[in-house]
Amino acid sequence: MSKIWLSLAHMGGAELDFVHSAFDTNWVVPLGPNVDGFESDLSEWFGKKSGHEVHVVALSSGTSAVHLALVMLGVSKGDEVICQSFTFSASANPIAYQGATPVFVDSEPGTWNMDPDLLEEAIEDRIKKTGKAPKAIIPVHLYGTPARMNDILEIASRYGIPIVEDAAEAMGSTYDGRYCGTFGKFGVMSFNGNKMITTSGGGALICRTEEEARKVKFYATQAREPFPWYQHEHIGYNYRLSNVSAGIGRGQMMVVDEHIAHHRHVHALYKDLLAGVEGITVTEPENPVANEPNYWLSTILVDSEVTGFTNLELTKRLADAQIESRPLWKPMHLQPVFANAPKYVSEVSESLFRRGLCIPSGPMVSDDDVKRIVQVIKG
Ligand SMILES: *Cc1c(COP(=O)(O)O)cnc(C)c1O
Repeated sequence: MSKIWLSLAHMGGAELDFVHSAFDTNWVVPLGPNVDGFESDLSEWFGKKSGHEVHVVALSSGTSAVHLALVMLGVSKGDEVICQSFTFSASANPIAYQGATPVFVDSEPGTWNMDPDLLEEAIEDRIKKTGKAPKAIIPVHLYGTPARMNDILEIASRYGIPIVEDAAEAMGSTYDGRYCGTFGKFGVMSFNGNKMITTSGGGALICRTEEEARKVKFYATQAREPFPWYQHEHIGYNYRLSNVSAGIGRGQMMVVDEHIAHHRHVHALYKDLLAGVEGITVTEPENPVANEPNYWLSTILVDSEVTGFTNLELTKRLADAQIESRPLWKPMHLQPVFANAPKYVSEVSESLFRRGLCIPSGPMVSDDDVKRIVQVIKG
């Protein structure tokens, strides 16, 4: 019996041609024609559903994209940054890289993302306690489900706080007809091996002006000033994507829309085949405005009172049947490393964490795989 993985990379076919061209022209370095090509593919693609100009900078990871967004916003020691608690640690770690303090805000049950009421409570309380507003807000579109961006943007603009939109899991998800990642001052993408498209490892920062994109590139290449020698007046980073990796990205951009369609197809099939199974819910986000998740990972909730088994017991049963699954992200406010961070929480993310499971999704999961997985879940 073959193993079914949670989220495997899928190559469209053209990737190797672009990688070969990097070798043939000896551009086996950071930067080069594939990086330029990948950036213009991304800018054009996101620009189609954005409502404003889009300038995408290719970087070595989604984590470095979050980090450079905070650098661009001048986040430094003594500052606070509000971050969605229910997320992968990469959303929050860069706040600590800057010597700033993360302030965690819980999710609301409809989208599993940042609760606008708790966000406003957090901003008010931080201003009262510290005398100044948080420097940035990082909402996340978890598992590809768009956060309540209208409410979050309205609150953020009322307090004049910029948004760094973590859309690492949401490439292709739309909210009110626009792509996730194009709502914030900056938008974060990840091309890690398990994301919607991959460059084996990589990421991008979506900017709104050419000037910002230029500055992001400057910081990402060791902040080299325009002198004949290496002159440095700022702390820089080595965060650019390699020309070889970007070649994979150019090939992936030729199949990105197919990938998104397949993730949605797999989710719909789970929904169909698990309908009526007592105690198992295939999660379906609320639709506050016309939004379309990409269903990066399909998720289920297990009601152990009804099923007689917990989410962790189900993981074990799936593993015995050669099927990979994983509990939902453990909220950051429950992580030992962030034990001292201020938090504004309800029970929502903790309760989801204790009940939920991610199940195999994406282009490598066939209809027969879904049927096999559903049989094991039904027990
Ligand atoms: C994957 C991911 C990131 C970071 O991406 P890397 O490319 O792995 O550094 C950031 N935020 C979220 C929510 C993610 O899932």
